[in-house]
Amino acid sequence: MSIDPRSYEYPDDILKNRIVLITGSSDGIGKALALHAAGLGAQVILHGRSVPKLEKVYDAIEEIDGAPTPSIAVVDLESANAESYMTLAQSIESEFGRLDGLVHNASILGERYSIEQYDAVLWQKVMHVNVTATFALTQVFLPLLHKSDDPSVIFTSSGVGRTGKSFWGAYAVSKFATEGFSQVLADEHRHSKLRSNCINPGATRTNMRLAAYPAEDRDLLKRPEDILAPYVYLLGPDSKGITGESFDAQ
Ligand code: NDP
Repeated sequence: MSIDPRSYEYPDDILKNRIVLITGSSDGIGKALALHAAGLGAQVILHGRSVPKLEKVYDAIEEIDGAPTPSIAVVDLESANAESYMTLAQSIESEFGRLDGLVHNASILGERYSIEQYDAVLWQKVMHVNVTATFALTQVFLPLLHKSDDPSVIFTSSGVGRTGKSFWGAYAVSKFATEGFSQVLADEHRHSKLRSNCINPGATRTNMRLAAYPAEDRDLLKRPEDILAPYVYLLGPDSKGITGESFDAQ
């Protein structure tokens, strides 16, 4: 019987002994996932660009009974260069020796303009943070993922990464690229243990959603904590062999 990741149920130590890096874990969905994964036993590497925000998440994890002490990885995906990525991978290799889960969650929205009006510099920035930085991280972490017995890469998509919509500009195009990236990685690794999948979180109560829909009633939206089951499914052992798929978290 196949599992619906949205209603996946799991024991409270399902991620024990798994080393998981979550990009953009200083806020929103990434932060909620970091807290939840740590509570499920994962050794979480908190990635972001703001040290004070990451330290708050770190402190919150330290309060969770039994959660392994997390690590912090500060890399600004807008300005990082090859050396920054290499240094990050080397520090994870020397501290942990491998990586079991890589969650590409960090993204920026850019602005809601038509293609005709879209600023070319902003376009480049959105594509850089949402796509090129994801490539750089994936490439530099692949050797560490191959050292895991059960490696999983999760990409974060969007509804506008499956059906193009007016005024979503570079963000939508970057999410189409994200879906494609996940499939290419999955196909390249179809004979290895590594799985690669996408999750579309759906409308979720975060700062990014607020920026996209400032006038909507936030109380009607799911909270980040409510949509995490598919992430846990894909990070944990029950999704072995599932690859090249794209899931909806709602
Ligand atoms: P938020 O804006 O709340 O969080 C984004 C995270 O990415 C933050 O931790 C942010 O850091 C980090 N980030 C942004 N830019 C950089 C950078 N240059 N370097 C390092 N980190 C960076 O977004 P959400 O939680 O809403 O979104 C998470 C994912 O879900 C994204 O991929 C988004 O596209 C996707 N998504 C969200 C939906 C929603 O309704 N919320 C719907 C569909 C998809 P900082 O805290 O410093 O800003």
